[in-house]
Amino acid sequence: MTDQFTPRGSGDRAQDQFLDVVSPETAMARFEAALFPRQLARQDRPLAEALGAVLADDVAVPIDVPPFDRANVDGFAVRSADLAAAGEANPCRLTLNDESVACGVVPRLPVTPGTATPIATGGPVPRGADAVIMIEHTDPAGDDAIEVRRSIAPGGFVAFAGSDMARGETLLRAGTPIGAREIGMLAACGIASVETVKRPSVAILSTGDELVQPGEALPPVGIYDTNGAILAAAVSENGGEGRFLGACGDDEAALEAAMWTALAGHDMLILSGGTSKGAGDLTHRILSRLGQPGILVHGVALKPGKPLCLAVCDGKPVVVLPGFPTSAMFTFHAMIVPVLRRMAGLPPRSDAHVSATVPVRIPSDLGRTEFVMVSLVEGRDGLVAYPTGKGSGAITSFGQADGFLRIDALADHMPQGARAEITLLSPHLHAPDLAIIGSHCSGLDRVLTPLVRRGLAVRSIAVGSLGGLAAARRGECDLAPIHLFDDQTQSYNAPFLSDELELVPGWRRMQGVVFRKGDERFEGRDAAAAIRAALADPSCMMVNRNQGAGTRILIDRLLGDARPEGYWNQPRSHNAVAAAVAQGRADWGVTIAPIAEAAGLGFIALTEEHYDFALVKARKERPAVKAFLEALDSPECRSALEEAGFRPA
Ligand code: AMP
Ligand code: MG
Repeated sequence: MTDQFTPRGSGDRAQDQFLDVVSPETAMARFEAALFPRQLARQDRPLAEALGAVLADDVAVPIDVPPFDRANVDGFAVRSADLAAAGEANPCRLTLNDESVACGVVPRLPVTPGTATPIATGGPVPRGADAVIMIEHTDPAGDDAIEVRRSIAPGGFVAFAGSDMARGETLLRAGTPIGAREIGMLAACGIASVETVKRPSVAILSTGDELVQPGEALPPVGIYDTNGAILAAAVSENGGEGRFLGACGDDEAALEAAMWTALAGHDMLILSGGTSKGAGDLTHRILSRLGQPGILVHGVALKPGKPLCLAVCDGKPVVVLPGFPTSAMFTFHAMIVPVLRRMAGLPPRSDAHVSATVPVRIPSDLGRTEFVMVSLVEGRDGLVAYPTGKGSGAITSFGQADGFLRIDALADHMPQGARAEITLLSPHLHAPDLAIIGSHCSGLDRVLTPLVRRGLAVRSIAVGSLGGLAAARRGECDLAPIHLFDDQTQSYNAPFLSDELELVPGWRRMQGVVFRKGDERFEGRDAAAAIRAALADPSCMMVNRNQGAGTRILIDRLLGDARPEGYWNQPRSHNAVAAAVAQGRADWGVTIAPIAEAAGLGFIALTEEHYDFALVKARKERPAVKAFLEALDSPECRSALEEAGFRPA
């Protein structure tokens, strides 16, 4: 939260926040105690509208299903005792009764000793018969008799009344979500409508002056509203009826009006944003006027998600989630879903868990329960859980994640190599067919897209070249994309490989100096002259790269001993360099040609960087690896790479 967005009048009160940080358990206990027990609203729904609803009551079976003893095959209704001695060498002759029983036909004649009645699958078994012999196991014997060459046990091929569902049995239990199967069971016993729990309607409001709705143009420092859409969907996934009401600016009067309206028309209100220091007391103040008992918890020892606020206003839950989407989702799942599900009549969610090794040390704050999103890949000895975290502000950490792990409040880190229990985000884990861990490049998509279209599950995890090499050596991935320059041999990548790895050439990326078109310090000059001009102008600001990046080595060579303004701004990606220059926060930097072009920047070529793959030899024969190598080598892929500004090796 920058000062710019601090609401008027917040003043010193901004310091009043998080005075009462409680444990997640205490927070949950207070919240649930204020809401439950409660009467759940009910709704009678016809079967056609029951899909997805939750049963409010146990449902008992009102009739026997099937309602009568029924033939399970086409054949003849018989008395099993007549066939006790029948066999291949001893065919038994039965006289046919003068009727044939089809579905929906009431038999007129009993089956008496020595007789049989033709019957169709589903037909009611006549009085006297106790089994049905399949037509395939009989031979005609004249017009009015059959011969049977095998015996049959009593009850053979008969579905007795109530054998499927017996009258009075519990058919379905309260809390069951109604799917196609449940609808089928209800229909089978003649039930046309059921009592369901009315889905709690949940209003969702985003807050923040910077928020822009998807579909609208993004102004220079705008942020697309992610929480609105994600929360509406997540509410609906957990039994509620999520209704996104839009984003509200950080303005007390407008926000209060929006909150009153939202609460009046819904069973629950979820806000996001405005909880970090500075504006937190804005919603805090409004909440204290909205109803009784008001705020129950403000601040939970949870990371991400500390600034969570839980309130109950005249019986309705009101929640303020942190603004960062990942934090918002974690707190939603950890603290709101249990309450929402109870209000929706659903049982607690049973999460699926797997065990995995953590390949890197994960630091954690002491005193806060910390959740870390992880991507799962298959290592040599079972699953490996890579933290996908790019910080709580990142949304991809959610998209790439298979689940999350929990670091106890009393631990300040999770050590490398530790076993952790992973809570899966969806109950079924599909380990990726192809795991790529290392440096990221937009060219990689050109190779992977066709593989994904063919149905391969591909996971690429960006941890940088060195991280990728380490993962490859530990056997945690198939390929590690790298671009590492070796000063000694003056060559790329090959010198960094060990015995278990082999080099697969990828493509070349032209590195160069980027500037805004028309900047006379750069336009039309070669690199050396441009850098001289930049260094000669004290107002000219650069953007650097992080230590360890291949690009940084280039920049250090260009600069020599110079430390111009902007040197300490060291973002970690090619895109961030282009964004800084395009937005005027810097005047020059070094990035790769395709990114410079996409950002509409001027470009002075410096040198080509080699982006190659370290292939784990032991995994070479895996079908997905072969498919990757074929795709990389294909003419389609090579031309797609060229089109994107890369030069295939
Ligand atoms: P706040 O709690 O309002 O200070 O927000 C913390 C961070 O989350 C800021 O960077 C906001 O821009 C961001 N943020 C808040 N609400 C949303 C939202 N609905 N979608 C995406 N980002 C958000
Ligand atoms: Mg905000």
